[in-house]
Amino acid sequence: MMHAAGDVRIEDVPDPAIVEPTDAILRVTRACICGSDLWPYAELQPTDTGRPMGHEAIGLVEDVGADVQTIKSGDLVVMPFAFSDGTCAFCREGLHTACVQGGFFDGYGTSAAQAEAVRVPWADGTLYALSVGEDDALMPSLLTLSDVLGTGHHAAVVAGVKPGDSVAVVGDGAVGLCGVIAAKRLGAEQIIIMGRHEDRTGLARKLGATDVVAERGEAAVERIHELSGGYGVHGVLECVGTEQAMETSVAIARPGGGVGRVGVPHYATIPLAQPMFFKNVKVGGGPAPVRAYIEELLPDILEGTIEPGRVFDRTVGLDGVPDGYRAMADRESIKVMVTP
Ligand SMILES: [Zn+2]
Repeated sequence: MMHAAGDVRIEDVPDPAIVEPTDAILRVTRACICGSDLWPYAELQPTDTGRPMGHEAIGLVEDVGADVQTIKSGDLVVMPFAFSDGTCAFCREGLHTACVQGGFFDGYGTSAAQAEAVRVPWADGTLYALSVGEDDALMPSLLTLSDVLGTGHHAAVVAGVKPGDSVAVVGDGAVGLCGVIAAKRLGAEQIIIMGRHEDRTGLARKLGATDVVAERGEAAVERIHELSGGYGVHGVLECVGTEQAMETSVAIARPGGGVGRVGVPHYATIPLAQPMFFKNVKVGGGPAPVRAYIEELLPDILEGTIEPGRVFDRTVGLDGVPDGYRAMADRESIKVMVTP
């Protein structure tokens, strides 16, 4: 439970129970702390009740409501960070994060995943059953299907990454690193990671980055133009959400290029509207429909072609979660896995 910025506590709360007949209850076997959890960790105003945290999980289904058809007790499932009915117009179009009956596991009126158990609405539409054991060695990589891998992939898809492209990834957190994996997977030839933490950029190189740019602002823009033949890159994956990151993203996109933004925006307007217009740069993005991407990304994990689980560099039990937040906020850890 997060009570205020910097104040995370482990508390006993009532067990989640089936509320709607379409719900399932998961016993969480793996969860994690997200880069986006660091925003409330920095800014949350004190609350009376505390906010349940965590939106990424793998777990065993313990109970299902009367109307759940395809998910059953005992299934090991991935829980995407958004719930969705799987049947509405948007779910059928693959945009599950716009589900008309959906929502996010944000702790405001929902159960949350940094816990022993979580209530999942719309179990059939939301959960994805795995065919591996709960302690499979691939578990860290499979856990990234609940958010960061699908989110990095979404940035690459929205940016229009295709074989032979030059790509820049703005942000060296777990989503940015998964963006590197996604860009490589989609055939990008040049992948530039922007970041200044050597442990992160070093891992990015192992995951497929071809160049590292540690500069920021104007210097970064110049460096990326140099590296990409003078015109900027075809695709930019904006994985931060700050105004400066967005400004850099628009500035380094080449004419006709695309910016896929998946960092939750902490700015009111998109900067550089004029250059964006005159360069015909496409800007898009939003919450990734990770549920839609599991089908496509899972086989690559099972075959070992991609190893997104390498973004986890620390594992804690529930008692270690408060320190996990601290470690990620201090940039001491890239991403923390939780084994409740
Ligand atoms: Zn839907």
